[in-house]
Amino acid sequence: MDKLLIENVGIITMEENNFIDEGYIYIEDGIIKEVKSGSFKGEKENLKKINGIGCIALPGFINCHTHVPMTLLRGYGEGLPLMRWLKEKIWPFEAKLEEEDIYNGALLGIIEMIKSGTTSFVDMYFKEDVIAKACKEANIRGFLGNPIIGDGWQGQVEDTISLFEKFKHDEMVKIFIAPHSPYTCSFECLKEVGEVARKLNIPIHIHIAETKDEVYITKDKYSLSPAFVCYETGLFDKNKTLAAHCVYLNDADMEMLLNYDFTAVYNPQSNMKLASGVAPVVKMIRKGINVALGTDGASSNNNLNMIEEMQTASLLQKLNCSDATALNAFETLQLATVNAAKAIGMENNLGYIKEGFYADIILIDFNKAHLNPKTDVYSNIVFSAQGSDVKTVIINGKVVMENYEIKVLDEEKVIFKANKSFKDVLSRL
Ligand SMILES: [Zn+2]
Repeated sequence: MDKLLIENVGIITMEENNFIDEGYIYIEDGIIKEVKSGSFKGEKENLKKINGIGCIALPGFINCHTHVPMTLLRGYGEGLPLMRWLKEKIWPFEAKLEEEDIYNGALLGIIEMIKSGTTSFVDMYFKEDVIAKACKEANIRGFLGNPIIGDGWQGQVEDTISLFEKFKHDEMVKIFIAPHSPYTCSFECLKEVGEVARKLNIPIHIHIAETKDEVYITKDKYSLSPAFVCYETGLFDKNKTLAAHCVYLNDADMEMLLNYDFTAVYNPQSNMKLASGVAPVVKMIRKGINVALGTDGASSNNNLNMIEEMQTASLLQKLNCSDATALNAFETLQLATVNAAKAIGMENNLGYIKEGFYADIILIDFNKAHLNPKTDVYSNIVFSAQGSDVKTVIINGKVVMENYEIKVLDEEKVIFKANKSFKDVLSRL
């Protein structure tokens, strides 16, 4: 049996009013068995110990929307509006990607995520089987949305079914179905996706209402909002849906979505960078819609750092609502943990540091000038911390980073190979 003890550590359990000033977390075979203040009294034989002195433990972040291999396109095609950026730069580059490049880009993104405290991510990209391989090597949880887009959708739906079959018993990888959006997927396609998702009992990962242009496109084509196009196809019926962006959801959309198992995934940095707009997050939460947080791909962000994303998430809502109380630090942490776990159907396994939950835990090093005094640990993490303050990362009970060092991969080699892939793709353009 694998036994792990994190001791002398502050613990953000994510249960309200339950911050443990100094305590321990005891883990057996990847499951949290004890979370208490004081010191561990149990059997100490064959026990790996991590001294958490000066650190605060919290549940690992769940990045609910990304396109992980797009780390290769970091900084590529800067300064263009969404549609020109996609058509002139991103799509031509992506057309030249080979499997090895996708693998190299995925590993680069996974290292970046682990180093800034992400332990699970929800993806949407081509070749999710290659990305799954990268996830398993790094021991990170991947909720991988197989993409459905354009005219070839029937074959893509078939591919999703085979991928689902391949990974249905996997511990770290789960396959989702990912229709790109209501403006790039036909009505028939979305209808079929809804049916397949119900049949396989897997969540849907989609982009909805990212830009004003998208709203005009669906209005022109169907006389409906993007969310109502999905509704009319039956996509949401008895399905769990994660919809990235939701910048232009209107009141009628929100009222309709309340009837479904629906999560809006807020991507503030991408929405700011592409000047798409501000998602009505405070309004959605007030109405009772589950809201989670994502970085989007590294080409529109330009990183996969959830700590930085939380800072932006809260600051942008405060500014947008002209209200300094909007989306406080604890609520913002909920977007990246508890709400995210609910979005992916893991609310009984992830998002809290709690007995019986999976041991996906990060330690933030508070021995830093910018994190003291510890007046309010939630605020210190959301508004003062850097991604690089994450010192140790445990996923499924396995230590994947310890004392800032990645244990599962050769970081230098991954960076080298990603740079090589970038140059190779450019030479093919
Ligand atoms: Zn996206």
